[in-house]
Amino acid sequence: MDKQQEFVLRTLEERDIRFVRLWFTDVLGVLKSVEIAPAEVEGALLEGIGFDGSAIEGFARLHEADMLARPDPSTFQLLPWRGEKAMTARMFCDVVTPDGLPAVADSRWVLRRALAAAAEAGFTFYTHPEIEFFLLKEPPKRGQPVPGPVDDSGYFDLTPNDISHDFRQQVIGMLERLGISVEFSHHEVAPGQQEIDLRYADALTIADNVMTLRQVVKEVALRQGIYATFMPKPFTEHAGSGMHTHMSLFEGDRNAFYDPTDDYLLSKVAKAFIAGLLTHAAEITAVTNQWVNSYKRLIGDAAVGEAGELMEAPAYALWGHNIRSGLVRVPLYKRGKANTARVEFRLPDSACNPYLTFALMLAAGLRGIQGGYELPPPAGDDIWTLTDSQRRERGIRPLPGSLAEATAVMESSTLVRDTLGDDLFEFFLRNKRAEWDGYRRQVTQFEINRYLPLL
Ligand code: GLN
Ligand code: MG
Ligand code: MG
Ligand code: MG
Repeated sequence: MDKQQEFVLRTLEERDIRFVRLWFTDVLGVLKSVEIAPAEVEGALLEGIGFDGSAIEGFARLHEADMLARPDPSTFQLLPWRGEKAMTARMFCDVVTPDGLPAVADSRWVLRRALAAAAEAGFTFYTHPEIEFFLLKEPPKRGQPVPGPVDDSGYFDLTPNDISHDFRQQVIGMLERLGISVEFSHHEVAPGQQEIDLRYADALTIADNVMTLRQVVKEVALRQGIYATFMPKPFTEHAGSGMHTHMSLFEGDRNAFYDPTDDYLLSKVAKAFIAGLLTHAAEITAVTNQWVNSYKRLIGDAAVGEAGELMEAPAYALWGHNIRSGLVRVPLYKRGKANTARVEFRLPDSACNPYLTFALMLAAGLRGIQGGYELPPPAGDDIWTLTDSQRRERGIRPLPGSLAEATAVMESSTLVRDTLGDDLFEFFLRNKRAEWDGYRRQVTQFEINRYLPLL
């Protein structure tokens, strides 16, 4: 027993905790949970709790039916929304095989391995995500129209009796009780759309925190009789929900992205990291944007609907300081504020698996550093008026336009294969091809509306 494990056991007694939930995440980013009695916790910490891997998405066809969930004691927290009923705690788990080896399907392990590769190069990887989602008036019913958004507000709006303001404060309160700090929260551009930004921390902590945030948001919505969704693009006429992620690499306590002598205050390391992101973005898109629906969001600088709402989602691999809809944005930070130097990657959506997504963003950036990639000049807002071939002349390539394109690019990516490992890589591709196939057989309302009257 180490100190953290002892702390968990002591707290169980002192706080009279009745249940402990063990959480882990499947390959597609869905949270799984098994609840155990306090008496079982010691054994779980030492050996893990067995479960049937063949029943869980992504673990199934990886030839390892018997798996063990081994709780990470550093993630021990009380669940605030269970308090009134029976004290319940949770821990995130690493998943291992009966021989005690990391399970190849465990995305937390994939991220740990990517972080270890960064550590070998002398870097700690920090992230800070901006998580967007929609609040709808009620839970969706199969076959029925999408329930309307809870409000009609827009960016940074604060209207009296604003239900979403109250909602965000409740979520933030619960997150704080779970030890998660929120830096920022506001109403987003679209009606009913919210954003919550987590304070930066090491990427593994943040990936766990993203999973917790989703759970808390769903839980608070349920209590208020409304529905929260992280679906990338629930409405044709409104912007989608992204998970812009700010990143930095530290060497010890020095921000390796900062250089006060550079025009952009960016170090060589930061520039090569960005170049890596731009070069490999298309290869990692199937993972950062893993659903058929994700690609309805990635439509660039389009303005849609009566209000001309801006979509502000990336469609090309380009970077800039304040370019709308860029893939990588370098926020303007103050000279001297070295620790805030960072790059913002705007590709992922709120329905990604954060462990795999962070692992691949890091791997792409590191490849840039290790391969000495050159950063192309930044793009300006004129980029949207160029033709595709003019963009190509400037070396600006489009991102995949559909899940089918994205999986086709991923297929030949050694970067993605190496980062995910062979088994997870193959499973992911199979799963996404099947997803696309299911979709492409559907005759959609778009086709009926367009073709039936015409053809
Ligand atoms: N919702 C936009 C997206 O899909 C982002 C809007 C913003 O934060 N500027 O990425
Ligand atoms: Mg934001
Ligand atoms: Mg936003
Ligand atoms: Mg942003």
